[in-house]
Amino acid sequence: MTRTAIVGGGIAGASAALRLAEAGVEVVVFETGDRLGGLVVSFEVAGTPLECFYHHVFPHEVHIRALIEELGLSARLAWLPSSMGVLNDGRIWPFTTPLDILRFGPLRIDQRIRMGLGGLRLAQVKDWEPLDSVPAQQWLAKATGQAAVDALWEPLLRAKFGSAAPDVPAAWMWGRFSQRRGARAGKGEKLGYLRGGFRQLFDALAVRLEQLGVEVRTTSRVSSIRHDGARVLGVATASGDVDADSVLYTGALPGITRIVPDEFVDARWREAQGLGVICSVIETDRPITDVYWTNVCDRRLGFGAIIEHTNLLPRSDYGGRHVTYLGRYYTQDEELATADPAAVTEQWLGELASVYRRFDPASVTAVHPFRAPYAAPLVGLGYRASIPDLRAPLAGLYVATTAQIYPQDRGMSEGVRLGGEAAAAIIADARTTATLR
Ligand SMILES: Cc1cc2nc3c(=O)[nH]c(=O)nc-3n(C[C@H](O)[C@H](O)[C@H](O)COP(=O)(O)OP(=O)(O)OC[C@H]3O[C@@H](n4cnc5c(N)ncnc54)[C@H](O)[C@@H]3O)c2cc1C
Repeated sequence: MTRTAIVGGGIAGASAALRLAEAGVEVVVFETGDRLGGLVVSFEVAGTPLECFYHHVFPHEVHIRALIEELGLSARLAWLPSSMGVLNDGRIWPFTTPLDILRFGPLRIDQRIRMGLGGLRLAQVKDWEPLDSVPAQQWLAKATGQAAVDALWEPLLRAKFGSAAPDVPAAWMWGRFSQRRGARAGKGEKLGYLRGGFRQLFDALAVRLEQLGVEVRTTSRVSSIRHDGARVLGVATASGDVDADSVLYTGALPGITRIVPDEFVDARWREAQGLGVICSVIETDRPITDVYWTNVCDRRLGFGAIIEHTNLLPRSDYGGRHVTYLGRYYTQDEELATADPAAVTEQWLGELASVYRRFDPASVTAVHPFRAPYAAPLVGLGYRASIPDLRAPLAGLYVATTAQIYPQDRGMSEGVRLGGEAAAAIIADARTTATLR
């Protein structure tokens, strides 16, 4: 029997642990946090666990759906009608149906038609690889018109990539179009949510892993990966060394350079950069919007999206409270990277009140500001070439991180897929080594 040490207890690490243990591999998971979950971390609103960072599932995300079913949680997975809006010039324009696009006031009617038809054309594009070196804004301007870029796409990319928006490849945007297509499969646009919070998924994973004999060490940071010059020997932690035949790293990609000796560092790990996010949960005594997801396309507002969770889920799940996220991603050179999330949220709420008259600051009953310093990889032009391999330059070391998910958006489902692929590679290599011996 071989032994694998997994660095990281997010969805990728936990999924890999599950598949390895099922195959008879001895597994130890190390997680700095106090429970499994990684970025799917939660707090509670009126006693119900709620993600600090908004989470939902798209209908086409088969890997996470299969895992939810496997863990016996399907009955909790609700498919709920979703709606979108665009906040521009102080009002929210509905943006869910083709008719909404035709009524989108910030553009002239000819510009709306061009945007709608262009969007349909882009959604039919099959081959994303040539789009890896084309700027998204250029691709979108050509198909949907410059006016649509100015009113919609540029603010949307800025909200998601901060100052790096001009270098976002069209391939990334292509991934978003195919995601939306997936959400529309069937009638209307539906999104999945685990009633009572995604924490249940990780609680169920923890139980299953324990049944399979996996050792999960929470509040335990791996400080270095041990090796004999040729292959891994295990990991080092503050509470001692642990031997392993293979090590799987699933943390933020830039973080791996701190635990692997220089001679085994892949240059692509060093070049990797991340996006941070500030995400604030606002509790109010009345709704803020009428839609689930609002893209903020108004330069006077410092945040990029308003996600009104209780316009997707019934507010009875949260003791009758209205729950809304305000969020904005940033690059490390932006002021937001070092700003106090509580002060940023206060500023955002002030801006919202002055721009969007329907919002009354007196309706706010609680504010919960959160930050993830590494929320997603920063993708730039030609990103494909910078994606590192699953097998690292040191034998026995494997890397499965969100930076290797492209052009799909990183997400729980892709994490399950990647964790499964990493487990399969570890098992296959262990068999080859055993045969050679
Ligand atoms: C604002 C926001 C919104 C999102 N919305 C959605 C959504 O709607 N739907 C969706 O599917 N996904 C969404 N995601 C993405 C999703 O959360 C991530 O893609 C997924 O959780 C990544 O899982 P992971 O296991 O790859 O990494 P992580 O969740 O980052 O887990 C990695 C873990 O490794 C641990 N770690 C790192 N280094 C060490 C070390 N040296 N020793 C021990 N432990 C270590 C970390 O503590 C962390 O827990 C969202 C993310 C954010 C930030």
